Amino acid sequence: MSSTQWTERYADALMNTFGPPKLILARGEGARVWDVDGREYVDLLGGIAVNALGHAHPRLVEAVTTQLQTLGHISNFFASEPQIALAERLAGLLGTEARVFFTNSGAEANEAAFKLTRRTGRTRIVATKGSFHGRTMGALALTSKQAYREPFEPLPGDVVFVDYGDIAALEAAVDDTTAAVIVEPIQGEAGVIVPPRDYLPAAQRIAHARGALLWLDEIQTGIGRTGAWFAHQHPDLVSEPVVPDIITLAKGLAGGIPIGACLATHGSGKLLDPGNHGTTFGGNPVAAAAALTVLDVVGEDGFLARVSEVGERPREVGAADPRVVETRGAGLLVGLTLAEPRSAEVVAAAQDAGFIVNGATPERIRMAPPLVLTDADVDAFGAAWPGILDAAGLGRTGGVA
Ligand SMILES: *Cc1c(COP(=O)(O)O)cnc(C)c1O
Repeated sequence: MSSTQWTERYADALMNTFGPPKLILARGEGARVWDVDGREYVDLLGGIAVNALGHAHPRLVEAVTTQLQTLGHISNFFASEPQIALAERLAGLLGTEARVFFTNSGAEANEAAFKLTRRTGRTRIVATKGSFHGRTMGALALTSKQAYREPFEPLPGDVVFVDYGDIAALEAAVDDTTAAVIVEPIQGEAGVIVPPRDYLPAAQRIAHARGALLWLDEIQTGIGRTGAWFAHQHPDLVSEPVVPDIITLAKGLAGGIPIGACLATHGSGKLLDPGNHGTTFGGNPVAAAAALTVLDVVGEDGFLARVSEVGERPREVGAADPRVVETRGAGLLVGLTLAEPRSAEVVAAAQDAGFIVNGATPERIRMAPPLVLTDADVDAFGAAWPGILDAAGLGRTGGVA
């Protein structure tokens, strides 16, 4: 059956929440995927920062298979070894005492954290303009984009939005009624926006001075994406160390098996009591075993250094063409700003040429490839890039013709 036929079946069978699928994919290996017509693509999006180990990584396949053969699901009346070991490993990576609540997605990790903040006895949340925290009602209340919010109002209230990266705006907004300040260390969905290096340390100082929690949404930036375990630990991204009170994770954590995690430090993990929150699937042994394998591989000697190294290359080859006017991001979270607002055309032309990228905004291309991206993958992209920009109709001189 061809892509065209599958696309027709999709349209009749699935809700139209995502628009027509760009491709019908059949299989993957490393940073490559193939569609049902047999065409090969270099996957520079990695399931939106999820496929940390690429597609069909033998160790992930092995871990999931073995765990499923041993114990696949148990409910949270019971606990399993992988679940406990994973919570301990994550706390170890933070380098501080932490308690963990596992979920199945990023939005759910943020829901858990949102409920936890209510247990401080305060209700106000300070979030940032351009934020993306997910699509459930609670996560949406923290997400700034009007187009996502409006059809579903009223959303849970007492959330205020301040300019991202603006320390004075935080100073003005956070007071002793604030339960938490929620920030992405890099705004991914907004187009890979990196704040000043003193922003997160200032957010911590301001939050703690008013008795509020600092909550970092590392769902996109965590687990090696930027070249550090967590973006808030990356010396290029923070001027001094921060120890957030809440960290939410998902996306890359289990390399493509659904998982999310809400980590709470400084004793705030004790804010949720028995009966306050729950989940049927969260902490599932298979997802936990997958995540432990991702942590094993990412934790191998030289892996994170290699992410930083190879991560420079998509920015380099992108910016080698003058029609890219700026590059952003850290490690393998990459933003390329185009001279003209033609990201939709660039995404389509890239796909025609065999490359999967994302248009985060009309001007900005986002890439979040598997962390196992090879130099050959980047070389292929570099060779094709000028032709992709030509095909997308970007003027050779840059600027709108
Ligand atoms: C993707 C994302 C979410 C939502 O995660 P889902 O698994 O899609 O619910 C939340 N916050 C950030 C920063 C994200 O990138």
